[in-house]
Amino acid sequence: MISTPNLPERLAAVVGPAYVLTDPADLAPYLTDWRGRYRGDARCLVRPGNTQEVAAVVRLCAEAGVPMVPQGGNTSLCGAATPDGSGAAVIVSLARLNRVRAIDPLNNTVTVEAGCTLASVQEAAQQAGRLFPLALASEGSCQIGGNLSTNAGGVQVLRYGNTRELTLGLEVVLPNGEIWDGLRGLRKDNTGYDLKHLFIGAEGTLGIVTAAVLKLFPLPRAQITAWLALESPRAAVDMLARTQANFDARLTAFELVSDLALDLVIRYIPGTAKPSGPAPWYVLCEFSDGGSEAELRGQVESWLGECLEAGFIGDAVIAQSVAQAEKLWQLRENISEAQKIEGISIKHDIAVPVSRLPDFLARADAALAAAFPGIRIVAFGHVGDGNLHYNLSKADRQANDEFIACQPEANRIVHDLVHSLAGSISAEHGLGQLKREEILRYKDPVEMALMRSIKQAIDPRGLMNPGKLL
Ligand SMILES: Cc1cc2nc3c(=O)[nH]c(=O)nc-3n(C[C@H](O)[C@H](O)[C@H](O)COP(=O)(O)OP(=O)(O)OC[C@H]3O[C@@H](n4cnc5c(N)ncnc54)[C@H](O)[C@@H]3O)c2cc1C
Repeated sequence: MISTPNLPERLAAVVGPAYVLTDPADLAPYLTDWRGRYRGDARCLVRPGNTQEVAAVVRLCAEAGVPMVPQGGNTSLCGAATPDGSGAAVIVSLARLNRVRAIDPLNNTVTVEAGCTLASVQEAAQQAGRLFPLALASEGSCQIGGNLSTNAGGVQVLRYGNTRELTLGLEVVLPNGEIWDGLRGLRKDNTGYDLKHLFIGAEGTLGIVTAAVLKLFPLPRAQITAWLALESPRAAVDMLARTQANFDARLTAFELVSDLALDLVIRYIPGTAKPSGPAPWYVLCEFSDGGSEAELRGQVESWLGECLEAGFIGDAVIAQSVAQAEKLWQLRENISEAQKIEGISIKHDIAVPVSRLPDFLARADAALAAAFPGIRIVAFGHVGDGNLHYNLSKADRQANDEFIACQPEANRIVHDLVHSLAGSISAEHGLGQLKREEILRYKDPVEMALMRSIKQAIDPRGLMNPGKLL
């Protein structure tokens, strides 16, 4: 460990003593990840209150040669916000940078600080009569800075794109403590390299995002949510294409849920029930429109009626109220929570071209069943984006403990197949600690070398979130 015994006191002089945590009991929640898979250690956690304080904190750490781990809501699913075990790092929490700086309804933009929770940004947009469409099950805790740094996806990427596509400008504190003010709310700006994209998805390895200008959209006036029962992933992909052809951008979500995933939610999440008769697969879809609800409802009902008659779907339930729609969404959004309650599983967060999803599922399921008899595969996700959460476990605890030790073999089967289908081994959650080594097998060495050059150029001393991503 680098010897900088008075660093916490020097940080306290910048942010105030109340905002530097050193007591092990106070630090504990920030030293482990949401899944409880990684545990690290840190010299202290510091909570600056504004961009200038973030910059001063970074300058002090940089002068002392101390590594920094930016932390938002700490909901990362790949250990990206957990420090390593050396105890050398300072965790920089953005939680106090939680102001909405400005809303410009005519420009359809909101300028927010990095520590705003996603839910609070959605709310601020709604109060201004606009939609901020990023939506994840962790939205009550995750922060915009974390969403930007992981390029978070979620359930409306199909229509609005992921965080990268929702971002117009950024303010970033660089690893030497300089502030880059790139808070531009422009939809067109061809004045050289678009630097914001370097920091989006960088998992805190290039600097600390302190604020962003984000895109807003008109609030849909009508929204219809439906639950479909289907025979197979192929039927889901076909149904997606047909429904998109019919509704185009008015189809705003199309989420796949396997029967096993649904069973877990029903078992562990109180107040949930199966909405339709049993089927091997389900799709939760949402239609949004600026027109009348009655009109949209009529169109969705007649479309789903046609699909039932044609045998494209086995059953369809259309929510009749906001409360019913929320109940349907609960089934989808609680899958990760239900899995967490059940115990540890081997998780994959993969993407392949949408057309190849059925092929991926058929081949991966067969290869894993052959290699690990009795395996339980919980698959669900954003079929409209070709992105599946593909999680593996065994039914009883002892068998599961043995199985978890086989993670490298299971990863090899799943990730090699994904690679052969021109896919990605991390569609949403990032690399963090979990896939930092794994990516070396799949990414083009030229691309890895470019990424290292960028890291070297911006953070030559490797002080920003070391051990993550690269
Ligand atoms: C129940 C559940 C559901 C989820 N669903 C989804 C989903 O649908 N789609 C999806 O994409 N993800 C999902 N996630 C993963 C996670 O919520 C997202 O990755 C989220 O964007 C992380 O935000 P956070 O504020 O919690 O970041 P953290 O976990 O605190 O940090 C994540 C990474 O970002 C860095 N970081 C955080 N803040 C900053 C900052 N201001 N500047 C620089 N770096 C920073 C950290 O160092 C770390 O590398 C889910 C997680 C949970 C627990």
